[in-house]
Amino acid sequence: MSTSQQDPWTVLRLLEWTTDFFKRKGSESPRLDAEVLLAHARGCSRIELYTAFGEEPEEEQRVAFRELVRRRGEGSPVAQLVGYREFYSLRFRIDDSTLIPRPETEHLVIEALDIAKASTITDRPLQIADIGTGSGAIAVSVAKTLKNCEITAVDQSTAALKIAAWNAEQHKVADRVRFIESDLLAAVQTPELFDIICTNPPYVSDAEYDELSPTVRDFEPKTALVSGPTGTEVIERIFNEVPARMQVGGRLIIELSPMIADACLKISQDSEHFGDERFIKDL
Ligand code: GLN
Repeated sequence: MSTSQQDPWTVLRLLEWTTDFFKRKGSESPRLDAEVLLAHARGCSRIELYTAFGEEPEEEQRVAFRELVRRRGEGSPVAQLVGYREFYSLRFRIDDSTLIPRPETEHLVIEALDIAKASTITDRPLQIADIGTGSGAIAVSVAKTLKNCEITAVDQSTAALKIAAWNAEQHKVADRVRFIESDLLAAVQTPELFDIICTNPPYVSDAEYDELSPTVRDFEPKTALVSGPTGTEVIERIFNEVPARMQVGGRLIIELSPMIADACLKISQDSEHFGDERFIKDL
């Protein structure tokens, strides 16, 4: 860089230095990481940084930023450093008890909404379940768009459910989403039957887990990611539980990886309870 130590640490210079630092640390989105963290330290939006390139942040902001940059450099995910992630154009609070919602999971939300809109049931709210709700990303996003529904969102993590309930409050859908601490649907008593069951379950195998990027592996909850030796264990349990909990003609929507797609298709095709399976490719 042509700048010297004497040059002032303007917003632009901080962004450029930090982008370069994150690039060397192996971040896949170094500039974005730098912008989100500097905006957070300054208490402004990312867009506002662009009209402040020449400004020199106050010492307090620089100290806060430096600490965020240090932790990002050590692998912490940006979403955990700022405490939230955008998903389906909504801001979700997250922490280290919840998976960070991924953009590909928005496909699942869109699919659930499409199925709901095509439903012929109009005399009662659609009953929807979200298994392993984590931050509540799926349940809250669906509830936000779909007015005539009741969503049962379950997770086995008490800490995650607290975050999810906070997100539902924040997005004003708490009256349509109830949260239950449960291992899959075991602790869910009513409604008897669901029209749509959605889930982004843990589907990473033990071996794949070892290969994950440290930003994911060392910081996000392992129980939200890993299923077991094959990666299909949790999905198999879901396949076993779902038939008894589903309305006739109900739909099950599962996010899974290409690694286990064939294995999962075989399990569902071997079952008398399923049919009409199809895959949707994500981003
Ligand atoms: N349902 C949440 C999400 O999609 C959490 C999923 C999980 O923890 N496996 O982000």
